[in-house]
Amino acid sequence: MSRFINQTYAKLEAYTPGEQPSNMKYIKLNTNESPFPPSQGVIEAIHKDAVSQLNLYPDPTCQKLKEKLAQLYSVGADQVFVSNGSDDILNFSFMAFCNSADHPVKFPAISYGFYRVYAELYGVRYTAVPLRDDFSLDIEDYTGNDSTVVIANPNAPTGLALSKKEIERIVSANPDHVVLIDEAYVDFGGESCLDLIDRYDNLLVVRTYSKSRSMAGARLGFAFGNAELIRDLEKIKFSTNPYNINRLTLLAGEAAIDDDAYYMQNCSVIAQTREDVQRELRQLGFVCTDSKANFIFAKHPNLDGEALYQTLKERGILIRHFQSEPIKEYNRITVGTKEQMDCLLREISLILNKKDKKEHKNEDC
Ligand code: PMP
Repeated sequence: MSRFINQTYAKLEAYTPGEQPSNMKYIKLNTNESPFPPSQGVIEAIHKDAVSQLNLYPDPTCQKLKEKLAQLYSVGADQVFVSNGSDDILNFSFMAFCNSADHPVKFPAISYGFYRVYAELYGVRYTAVPLRDDFSLDIEDYTGNDSTVVIANPNAPTGLALSKKEIERIVSANPDHVVLIDEAYVDFGGESCLDLIDRYDNLLVVRTYSKSRSMAGARLGFAFGNAELIRDLEKIKFSTNPYNINRLTLLAGEAAIDDDAYYMQNCSVIAQTREDVQRELRQLGFVCTDSKANFIFAKHPNLDGEALYQTLKERGILIRHFQSEPIKEYNRITVGTKEQMDCLLREISLILNKKDKKEHKNEDC
């Protein structure tokens, strides 16, 4: 740290993203990317003509992309916000809708780690609400009408989802605060609350192209809400970086909407693979949550969570391990292709067999 840093940020603990290794080729199941490539339409959209226009700024209003999203999701274009990944939208939302005096913020204690980082970045008073022992949320913890509420649905890294009815209970109980529902993983089996935005002016639904639309590398997120909420976010965007979505990403985002059937088909393949792999893991003795996302959250009674992560890494498979209690025993495993998951299951069986043999040997000694 330099001696020039603004003291507000001196103690800030930044978010730690999942590993993005370049030293070797892993089966990469650690950051919830799609294992499938972008659609043909997206690849064609970023063609030579588009690249040759990189001398020109992109459209800062992103109007065409907004109109396409509005049509696909049956909302008004003025109810859509787009930005550079959904992290950007979360960041703007903390800026726009949280402050310690009137709108402190509340989120589950086990959830997307960035919520806490943004709260600390902006010095907003926050409550990280403990989960039940089975990682479910008690929705009554979020009905106090005393804070902005941020909930990932399905939650990460647990994969557990709330129903639209439960979300509506939270939204309707907090009329004086924004309720942000982060639906990054909703396309893999969750229930969206998107159609509530016409009835509740405090609901903001945040989505991303990073998971279900195979575009984590393009950085594109979108959000739906009341037109006034969207105007607030636009104000923040135009006060920071109006050109925050580059030309190529805009074109890719538009083309992906035209190819929506391809992406939704991929989502159902991923959801099916998740169910199959969870079944097999349970047969091997793992405990898995009932994930509705594109990842599995699992622990084994005889395997240390971190040791499993390390051993798989040595064998060329990357999964995500979190050091924090009470999830240290768990690993989050992104659902890849069937072939990738077969390889994972094979390696896990070998690790378990080896451990069994070692334990028997020790008994013999
Ligand atoms: N929300 C949740 C719950 C996430 O897990 C992630 C991805 N790590 C994001 C938002 C951010 O995704 P992106 O910025 O790639 O859209």
